[in-house]
Amino acid sequence: MKFTPEKSPLTGETLESLTEKLRAQGEPAFRAKQILDWLYKKRARTWEDMTNLSKPLRQWLADTFDLMPVTLVLNKQSEDVTDKLLLELRDHSLIETVIIRVPQEGVGVEHSRKTICISTQVGCAMGCVFCASGLAGWKRDLSAGEIVAQLLQVCYREDARTPRARMELASFDNIVVMGMGEPLANYEPLLLALRIANAEWGLGVGARRITISTSGLVPKILQLADEDIGFRLAISLHGATDEVREKIMPINKAFPLAKLIPAVRTFSEKHGRMVTLEFILIDGINDSLDQAMALRDIARDLHAHVNLIPYNTVEGLPWKRPSLTRQERFADILRAARISVTLRREKGHDIDAACGQLRLKTEKERESAVA
Ligand code: SAH
Ligand code: SF4
Repeated sequence: MKFTPEKSPLTGETLESLTEKLRAQGEPAFRAKQILDWLYKKRARTWEDMTNLSKPLRQWLADTFDLMPVTLVLNKQSEDVTDKLLLELRDHSLIETVIIRVPQEGVGVEHSRKTICISTQVGCAMGCVFCASGLAGWKRDLSAGEIVAQLLQVCYREDARTPRARMELASFDNIVVMGMGEPLANYEPLLLALRIANAEWGLGVGARRITISTSGLVPKILQLADEDIGFRLAISLHGATDEVREKIMPINKAFPLAKLIPAVRTFSEKHGRMVTLEFILIDGINDSLDQAMALRDIARDLHAHVNLIPYNTVEGLPWKRPSLTRQERFADILRAARISVTLRREKGHDIDAACGQLRLKTEKERESAVA
């Protein structure tokens, strides 16, 4: 399904593309930078806010572009640590964006480190059996403008939370592409969006502070390795042998470990950075000590960091997380081999933070409201 909006989002324009469009209108080259400054640096929310542009130009902009293609419909907060934004797109689809705050010692919460988790598709086609995002299948890809708009919505939210002088608008420390959808299945729009996030005229977030998480689309991992920007890569492994992995992640049939692991190696060699292996711990499925040992071997071979995540229960699915003791025993096998490992006490359990869950719930509520 392809959605073509009435007007293209301003958040999907680069300095070059906007300059080109303005030139065709007879506007000088510096206008594009002025407009993007209004959008990203001064956080203009309406065309009228852009006071140094002529009225006719503002009218042309309003007729041509959608200044903000997503609307905030719900904001769920958990103990000041995680904020979840439910956003509505122009075709009424829902997506999620999450703000995760890691408080810093000795300073107020407004100075916590902030990681923003963004979505790249409505739904997901990959069909991982444990995941809420894929339960209702794939609906459509997000455009670059819709991906960037999520970051701006977070900025709006943060600016309002900590009112400061104009020069001190909110910023964030990391972007993780771990929301709804398989990012590498929406490759071109994703890369365009991340270039806008990275650009000095855009949000200015360093490439090293941007992590793309994938379920393992091997050809796209290799394509990403060839890009000139060095984003970080995380792999949703979740099974350390083909036998276990293919039971829970259908993608493993097309790209089994014998293909995935060499592709990850190529990526980390090209960019000289540690890749992260994500491993959700699901009781009785992938939490055996054999799996821990197989994971240890893969991580050692790839010089990868391992992120163990206790499974977040999804309504309607039977899976659950192992006991704390079992989680620790699993982690100990990796620690004993001096693998860099974190066992996440994941934040936001109480606000449905695992990907896709808040949207799923709201879609269900909408359905029952219609019924
Ligand atoms: N599609 C991409 C990125 C989005 S998912 C990917 O799969 O990597 C982000 C991460 O959340 C993935 O590692 C995914 O496996 C994990 N995840 C999905 N459902 C989860 C759940 N219920 N509990 C914990 N982690 C979950
Ligand atoms: Fe899609 Fe990632 Fe969920 Fe798998 S884990 S269904 S790839 S969002």
